[in-house]
Amino acid sequence: MRYLTAPRVHDGTRFVTGNKILSFDEEGIFRGFAGIDEVDADLVETFEGLLMPGLVNAHCHTELSHTKNTIPENTGLVPFLGLVVETRSAGEAEKSAAIHEALSSLAHSGCIALGDIANSTDSLPLRPNANMHIHTFVETMGFIPEFAAQRLDYSLKVYQSFKDQAQPANGYVLRQSVAPHAPYSVSGKLFELINSLEKNSLLTIHNEESAAENEYFISKTGLMQDLYQRLKINDEWFRPTGRNSLPGYLPYLSATHPLLLVHNTFMDQDDIEVLKKSGHEVSLCLCPNANWYIERRYPDVDLLADSGLNICLGTDSLASNHQLNVYEEVLTLKRNFPAIPEERLLAWASSGGAKALQLDHIVGSFRPGLKPGLVHIREEQSVRIL
Ligand SMILES: [Zn+2]
Repeated sequence: MRYLTAPRVHDGTRFVTGNKILSFDEEGIFRGFAGIDEVDADLVETFEGLLMPGLVNAHCHTELSHTKNTIPENTGLVPFLGLVVETRSAGEAEKSAAIHEALSSLAHSGCIALGDIANSTDSLPLRPNANMHIHTFVETMGFIPEFAAQRLDYSLKVYQSFKDQAQPANGYVLRQSVAPHAPYSVSGKLFELINSLEKNSLLTIHNEESAAENEYFISKTGLMQDLYQRLKINDEWFRPTGRNSLPGYLPYLSATHPLLLVHNTFMDQDDIEVLKKSGHEVSLCLCPNANWYIERRYPDVDLLADSGLNICLGTDSLASNHQLNVYEEVLTLKRNFPAIPEERLLAWASSGGAKALQLDHIVGSFRPGLKPGLVHIREEQSVRIL
């Protein structure tokens, strides 16, 4: 057994008062909280600062790690997307090394579970040795309905490669599902095809990341419309709805799919009502540092925090973030949304993410029988120690 304590302990939901000695068995399984008089003082490892369960990064694109420091800040989303496409042409070895480094720093800084977007199999060989649970979301996109089946075929090949990968002997869980990229980049036809692939699969989507996305759905005008015209993408099939993007695309997705909506930078109360009535199990993933990087804008976090929906955190990729540690997202939220207690922010970074990735039976909380990992935080630095 291993016994550890610190002045502050967060159990994945709240700060712990009273007995604060954490006990883990040799396999890293949490066995419960012990009282001071129950454990020989010599056996207790004492840390300064805070101990909490492993962190969950619910939205990342490790396959874009080679783009670190290549894309300027504050471009706005539409120019940003163009820059990402242009910088994607790195060599295989360079990309693989960058993914390896990203996964290492994720694990070192506290991550125990990752929601990772993949457009290719670049991250596939690195998954088994990542020292964390990974749900790979194979992203599919295409706004021209005539090419929907072709686009999906390509994504299904990528998906099959991930699915065929054996579960690693280290006990971490590797999962995958096919997911739509964003409301503005997936045709109705493609949404329907994705929806019908698997009845209960976990879907994620970049949701309401820019004002341009909502403007396109409301009135089919603005920067998104300009982009389609420049790229000569025929969007005659698209009918504006007079509302934000979310109510426009949600009807394509059956309520049997749990949804992980990422960014939500321009989500409003109407969208929240739509989600609550939809029957979907919904998680909202916040990536404030990426939102700031791209658009100098944060979501209405106070509104989302009051929604009653599950909230989790992500970093997006190194194309739009300086690092991939969700604890840095906690710090950004703490500075900018002081009304939200730190206790809740830490819960979003652990149990919220575990729930969103359907891994809350393994990680996210100090509950006996779970194997939640252990993170030590001191002077705004996080390190994973189990
Ligand atoms: Zn993303």
